[in-house]
Amino acid sequence: MERFTEKYTINTATGCWEWAGAKDKHGYGRFYNDGRNAMAHRVSFELKTGITLNKEQHIMHSCDNPCCVNPAHLSIGDHKANMRDMASKGRAYHPSGEANGRAKINETQARIIRRIQGMSLQAIGDLFGLSYKAVHYIRIGKRWAYLEQGKTKNNKSIAQSTPFLRRQEAG
Ligand SMILES: [Zn+2]
Repeated sequence: MERFTEKYTINTATGCWEWAGAKDKHGYGRFYNDGRNAMAHRVSFELKTGITLNKEQHIMHSCDNPCCVNPAHLSIGDHKANMRDMASKGRAYHPSGEANGRAKINETQARIIRRIQGMSLQAIGDLFGLSYKAVHYIRIGKRWAYLEQGKTKNNKSIAQSTPFLRRQEAG
């Protein structure tokens, strides 16, 4: 695996190992190995720990630097931590809020709420600061109904507007 270690530079200020090879549009390093196009930080984590990650295992960056492959900055998020992480990042992605001034959540979060499995409505609500009823309405399509059409309000495709969900799938 010499190829891997040649592909990052160490940022002495932050301790981040910053990927210098190919990156995806979200800034995550891509690593091509054995004909497999993998996310560099996941490969780094696997190399360090000997764990083979499955698709449900989301790797979180404590440094919030997507191109960082320093295993000391990486950890497996449990389901809840993972959702909390996505929820807070969904917020960070839309700092000015959505078009509807009354919306408590944004589009990315609405999509996440639709896709969460294995959590009660109440637990999901607690995560996003919503009532279980609001969560229920979002999940049955009574709120954010236009998401059903596979479009956002600005007519972007779902793929463009849900970087976190795609990231998980890609991982
Ligand atoms: Zn880092």
